[in-house]
Amino acid sequence: MNNIKIRNKKLAEKIINNLQKRNFKAYFCENKQETIQKIEELISKTETISWGGSITLEETGIKNFLEENNYKTINRDKGKTKEEKEQIVRQGLISDVFLMSANAITEDGIIINIDGTGNRISALCFGPKRVIIIAGMNKIVKTVEDGLSRARNYAAPINAQRINNLIGINTPCTENGSCVNCKSETSICSQILTTRLSNPKGRITVILVNEELGY
Ligand code: SF4
Repeated sequence: MNNIKIRNKKLAEKIINNLQKRNFKAYFCENKQETIQKIEELISKTETISWGGSITLEETGIKNFLEENNYKTINRDKGKTKEEKEQIVRQGLISDVFLMSANAITEDGIIINIDGTGNRISALCFGPKRVIIIAGMNKIVKTVEDGLSRARNYAAPINAQRINNLIGINTPCTENGSCVNCKSETSICSQILTTRLSNPKGRITVILVNEELGY
């Protein structure tokens, strides 16, 4: 095991303890394979499952696993038109389980997310019966300030570039790679959420993965 993984494993123990003190359920997985096993353990095939846009969910193979194993997914990618996709996203807000990643998690167990339309963070706040956050240890930061900076200055410009490649949003950061705190109509930074507790207790689960995942 390399030094980064050894350090992350030690640090994760403390973070999991801190997440539990904040009423989150929390688990640690060494790799993508263990993460899929944990998902299999946590989700039943009778539950409806939706998710927010997330590179982590793609890199872990979780989305493919759910689709290939007959889980009851509510998958916006199956919508044929923009309207159909939007309708599916709305249905996802009342799913049994909502999967997402985080833009940052502090060592103290506070979760930070930034969102454009807000479907991902609205699901995190309320709607789906349960939320499962899957986050690589690269998302861990020391403080809320560090997390906000990571979300705004690192994750958002890269995500904006990804979305620009898909649908052409052309925000200033897609031109120069740096956040200029824009007010663009297509800004992916409309709302910023810090989640300090799971309420009700246990509604939100966090799975920390000892790999670099997503941005
Ligand atoms: S430039 Fe706009 S869209 Fe890009 S990261 Fe900054 S606020 Fe977000």
